Amino acid sequence: METTKWDAVVIGGGAAGLSAAQALGRSLRRTLVIDAGQPRNRFAAQMHNVLGHDGTSPGALLATGRSEAASYGVEFHDGFVASVRDLGQTLEVTMEDGTVCEARSLVLATGVSDDLPEIPGLAQHWGARVLHCPYCHGWEVRGARIAVVPRSPVGLHQAFLLRQWTEQLVVCSEALGTLDPIIEARLRARGIEIVDEAISEVRNDDLGVTALRTVSGRELPIDAIFTAGTLRPHDHMLAGLTLARSAGPLGEFITVDPAGRTSHPRIWAAGNVVSPATAVPQAMAAGAMAGAAVNFALVEEDFDLAVAAHKEQ
Ligand SMILES: Cc1cc2nc3c(=O)[nH]c(=O)nc-3n(C[C@H](O)[C@H](O)[C@H](O)COP(=O)(O)OP(=O)(O)OC[C@H]3O[C@@H](n4cnc5c(N)ncnc54)[C@H](O)[C@@H]3O)c2cc1C
Repeated sequence: METTKWDAVVIGGGAAGLSAAQALGRSLRRTLVIDAGQPRNRFAAQMHNVLGHDGTSPGALLATGRSEAASYGVEFHDGFVASVRDLGQTLEVTMEDGTVCEARSLVLATGVSDDLPEIPGLAQHWGARVLHCPYCHGWEVRGARIAVVPRSPVGLHQAFLLRQWTEQLVVCSEALGTLDPIIEARLRARGIEIVDEAISEVRNDDLGVTALRTVSGRELPIDAIFTAGTLRPHDHMLAGLTLARSAGPLGEFITVDPAGRTSHPRIWAAGNVVSPATAVPQAMAAGAMAGAAVNFALVEEDFDLAVAAHKEQ
């Protein structure tokens, strides 16, 4: 990796970051992608609902994306970014391994972590038979015995949605307390069983989940679970810059405009780190948009600098 100033540093080499990098590389921008190599969907063997890539492994898509971006001159550095400092005309990016680089612009595309409910056995088949997105994996478990384990009222939407994929649906509602009678009536009207006891364990075999065990010892045979983790955006490296944030049903995230621009004039963000409910296609679109927006801002700045230099002559 060279040490001179980059036009753009992209933090995160997932679907969003690589799309931004490709747009920047194709715009002849000196672009560095710094990536820790842990995309959110790495637990799943295959991706779905990604047009042209249905059934592809997440790793294969990113390997292709990397080589495409590299073919336009984008460079890569494997590692974690620890902090970002505002130097005025540039940003200073410091990595955990001590490497420091400087950039005119930054795209944050670092995704989120899913902190799963702490139920023994639940995490074992995450991405295979413990799932969160019906559009990504609902087809694979259609008609199966599915349990929905919501951790907050917003998680109930999984129960309503999944009735489209199976008639054998149970909602484990303990974390929600007493259900609103209207919601309960809607669920029961479509044959959805409601279990209000706490779940003490998820039972698994090598192939997947087999049953839920409740605190009273009841066993519910199941084939798959849908739940949602607490989402943790990977944006700690920008903490010193006090970017504007917005609170929503899934937590608090850095605010961006439709092109991905944050409240800082040199920082854009795309993908799950600012839009946690979105999947791979939306992350790719947001990254491509942010890449184009960064290039446009740099084009403007290049003209401003040229005009200023011209006046000085
Ligand atoms: C189990 C599971 C299965 C899924 N299946 C599907 C599916 O089938 N279809 C679909 O469309 N969507 C699926 N998704 C959603 C999909 O994972 C996300 O929409 C997508 O990964 C978002 O892309 P992203 O680029 O925003 O973030 P990510 O793909 O998470 O990439 C972020 C990258 O940034 C890196 N990073 C983080 N912090 C730092 C740092 N400090 N410094 C440097 N690098 C850093 C990470 O290591 C990672 O490589 C699934 C999600 C899960 C949890």
